[in-house]
Amino acid sequence: MAVKNTNQSSSWTIENSSDLYGLHRWGKGYFSINEKGHVAISPKSSKGKDYDLIKLLNELESRNLKFPLLVRFDDILEDCLRNLHIAFENAITHYEYQGKYQGVFPIKCNQQRHVVEELVTSGSQWHFGLEAGSKAELLIALSILDDPHALLICNGYKDQRYIETAILARQLRRQPIVVIEQATDIDLIIKSSNLLGASPLIGIRAKLSSQSSGRWSNSIGDKSKFGLSIPEILQAIKRLKEANLLNELKLLHFHLGSQINDIGILKDALQEAGQIYVELINLGAPMGYLDVGGGLGIDYDGSQTASIASTNYSLQNYANDVVATIKECCASKNIKLPTLITESGRAIASHFSILIFNILGKNSLPSDIPKKDKKECLSVKNLRETLVHINNLKLKQEEDLTKLQEAWNDSLKFKADALAAFRLGYIDLVERSKAEQLTWACAKTIVNQLPKNVLLPKELKKLSESLAVTYYANLSVFRSAPDTWAIGQVFPIMPIHRLNQEPDQLGHFADLTCDSDGKLDQFIDNGKIKNLLPLHEFKSEEKYLIGLFLGGAYQEVMGNLHNLFGSTNAVHIRFNEKDNYKVEHVIRGNTKSNVLEYLEHDPEILLERLRKSSESAIQAGHLKIDDAQKLIEHVEASLRQSTYLQN
Ligand SMILES: *Cc1c(COP(=O)(O)O)cnc(C)c1O
Repeated sequence: MAVKNTNQSSSWTIENSSDLYGLHRWGKGYFSINEKGHVAISPKSSKGKDYDLIKLLNELESRNLKFPLLVRFDDILEDCLRNLHIAFENAITHYEYQGKYQGVFPIKCNQQRHVVEELVTSGSQWHFGLEAGSKAELLIALSILDDPHALLICNGYKDQRYIETAILARQLRRQPIVVIEQATDIDLIIKSSNLLGASPLIGIRAKLSSQSSGRWSNSIGDKSKFGLSIPEILQAIKRLKEANLLNELKLLHFHLGSQINDIGILKDALQEAGQIYVELINLGAPMGYLDVGGGLGIDYDGSQTASIASTNYSLQNYANDVVATIKECCASKNIKLPTLITESGRAIASHFSILIFNILGKNSLPSDIPKKDKKECLSVKNLRETLVHINNLKLKQEEDLTKLQEAWNDSLKFKADALAAFRLGYIDLVERSKAEQLTWACAKTIVNQLPKNVLLPKELKKLSESLAVTYYANLSVFRSAPDTWAIGQVFPIMPIHRLNQEPDQLGHFADLTCDSDGKLDQFIDNGKIKNLLPLHEFKSEEKYLIGLFLGGAYQEVMGNLHNLFGSTNAVHIRFNEKDNYKVEHVIRGNTKSNVLEYLEHDPEILLERLRKSSESAIQAGHLKIDDAQKLIEHVEASLRQSTYLQN
């Protein structure tokens, strides 16, 4: 459907596109639009050079890296990590905090080896550590983190082997801190320590009573699944003391849940945790670390509000609040200031990857005006008259909206008449088709007449949505952007080229799966959410590439194999000063063989079965030998290839 053309294409500028898609608001300076109308990447944020994303993608395609493609920019990952440290350094200086900051990365946020390795390597200057939430993540941390000064926070459900592994790792000169999340963890810690004659460093996760907001608010509060209540903490101290382990209690931990959107909630929690920290010292624990967990939010829509896709604070506000609040709590009680730990995942790992997918085609409601025949049924005649009437309506005032509404009601009535007549056998398929085309032509004309920036009646608003163009995306949202489906997460999504042209269509995306939930139809809208995205006319002879931004955290591992769409190709890019880049790692996406094998199908057996039945078909004279061979070759090639469409 055409958007009302208030801006002539010739006057459309890249600034208009930047404003429309908001990338200067949510992109933190990493993304911009260059004079060619392409998205450009600035790996050091707005400082320094930028690189043309389309040029890069063309060159990746020449290396046979097809879409959908996940492009990871390691420079951006590093920059986000650096910014986190700079923010805490600034806050520590500003508030004269007599202590330090030492972060860890929660592995669950993105477990990919290259990502974890990159963070550990570039974070080594700050002794940046890792947080494990399961036994498997602990193994990743043990293999990748070998800095004796970096912390390894051991969270999650634990069994005896988990704890014994952590105790032994301490003797490897690592710094694992076993966080007591359940009262039963205490028994396991005591038992393991007795068994090994050595003890782990110990932390306690507190169940704070401060209320959180947002989607993950149930991560805290009295009913949360994690952490110890205050009576349980007191009991834990008693038991650790009896077991002679209180000396190892070094850390207090809390986690408010992901994507804290309101800073006020964090402040309350920090005060509460600060007081608990002080009390733990008064009860005889040596302490030394206060771990404020993750939850540092991302401004997905750039609106800087406490709405669900945004945050009402900056990274610096966050660091300031952590540092200032804890200083206040401890200094007033003459307590040595703790080393501050964050477990921010989303805030470090969101920006560095872009998921790029191509559009395979589009679908819109048929609204061409059919040729007039001599004899037409009454409904079709009525619809033609309604269309003329709508075209002649010259809207002058807002009240005239009711005229459009009336005209639309008429069109719907005539369409219903035509359908009834068809069901009863009075009109043929051709007449019915005309009725449908004319109804949508009426709708299109009405939508084109709708004034902008005016509150529309619900039905007229819905009308523009129903006329939207569906763009078919070479993608599975279940695989690559599962949070859009599972929890209604919105990511910035936009075309990454043609941004010097006005996008004159309104559309949404349907993915490759045979599932009506496989779609992207929620888009950022500066603090609100909209269902349609302005897009360019799709031309079948030209590639149209869309980017899903800020999806570097959580999406890949939460993705599933619905309809057997496997992982996409992924690349790691490193830029250098000479307008050049290096493809550091290529991670090939799953082949069809891979995904079949996950489900216990054996590609060899599959091929052999096909070979046998084509042999029988040859015997019976149904199939030529050449064609049988062609079929087998297609299947063999297909098994080796990606699960996505190849064009
Ligand atoms: C998930 C999780 C994190 C990471 O949260 P982000 O919102 O990604 O920063 C940190 N700590 C714990 C205990 C978690 O469960």
